[in-house]
Amino acid sequence: MNYKTFGGLLAVLVLFTGVGAFAFVGVAQGEGENASNRKIVVFKEGVSDSEKDAVLGALSQNRIKRLTRALSADVLENADASKLGELAKNPKVKRIDNDVIVYALSRTEELAKGGSQVGVAAAQVLPWGIDRIDAELVWLTGNSANPIKVGVIDTGISLSHPDLASNIKGSYNAISTKRSANDDNGHGSHVAGIVAALNNTAGVVGGAPQADLYAIKALSASGSGYLSDVIESIDWAIFKKLNVINMSLGTTADVQSFHDAVIRANNAGITVVAAAGNSGGAVNYPGAYNEVIGVSATDSTNTIASWSSRGPEVDLAAPGVSIYSTYKGSGYATLSGTSMASPHVAAAAALLMNRTIRPSEDANTNGKWEPAEIKARLQSTATDLGATGADPLYGAGLVNAFAAVQ
Ligand code: CA
Ligand code: CA
Repeated sequence: MNYKTFGGLLAVLVLFTGVGAFAFVGVAQGEGENASNRKIVVFKEGVSDSEKDAVLGALSQNRIKRLTRALSADVLENADASKLGELAKNPKVKRIDNDVIVYALSRTEELAKGGSQVGVAAAQVLPWGIDRIDAELVWLTGNSANPIKVGVIDTGISLSHPDLASNIKGSYNAISTKRSANDDNGHGSHVAGIVAALNNTAGVVGGAPQADLYAIKALSASGSGYLSDVIESIDWAIFKKLNVINMSLGTTADVQSFHDAVIRANNAGITVVAAAGNSGGAVNYPGAYNEVIGVSATDSTNTIASWSSRGPEVDLAAPGVSIYSTYKGSGYATLSGTSMASPHVAAAAALLMNRTIRPSEDANTNGKWEPAEIKARLQSTATDLGATGADPLYGAGLVNAFAAVQ
């Protein structure tokens, strides 16, 4: 058993205990728990729709969807392996990628205890994580991130939640474009509340309470989804000119089409933030990509959670243990995971982006915040934890929104 296989098995064990009910179907080579029965057939530039039909031939009946945004590709399901082998040799086909499964990165231990997942709105509390990153000190300066646009690529957002609804300015369901992006799981609503729950008299308050939220549904009610839907979500965010994307999701598979989508977002000026993962091992994708701010999870004593993924790809740490936030319907819940850490950084990025950039921060001197400049500022103002300087557990340290906007 080589190291990679062993790591994959460990990840499967963690997922079984951590994510719970997910139908585990087949193990393809090198894909482990991320294996699916779908493929992404990427066409070369300039291949027309009718040419794609002709190239696919009989495989057209295996097609589930045609990606229509930046990526020129068709998604096939249950396609015959030998026919795929032939297809890969076609000169109009650039590449065939695995349409891997991506997972929401929260742990379900709190939910398993029962009772806490559907709290009722009481007098507003300042969740410990928002307090810890000093977001509330930024609001006192008149900056609550209005009108920065934050896309939450997740299970959707509870569109009618009284602590979120008035901040939701757009929505998109990448799984089925005719359906709503309302959250049928709870995970996306929890993440959204950490970014931008309303600063009113009830429930909770998010780190960037006047940011505009965009609900982008790529994960199903079970908390998992297909990479192709995440890619469509990223390209929708580019189309809508969003400023920040939060992805509290991940896969252990490094897929070229995923990396390409993240690079497109970066080139469009979008700061992309993602959860590191909950395996205790290597950082998941997209968090591991250089163009993404990968976030590990800390507890209330500023110690990394034992299950938080770690490695040189961790850029920052943020609160991710026992985080209270909005949930599906009009509920509230306490959850843990790097899923909860990532949106703290997304909120800090939104607050920073809403502050005029200084010449000393403006690496390319165009007067605008670029993703790399946001990342650099958040890192240089983070509170160093663990070993002195950047380290694999905490990256540059615990994000601090107030220090960043100073
Ligand atoms: Ca509130
Ligand atoms: Ca350190």
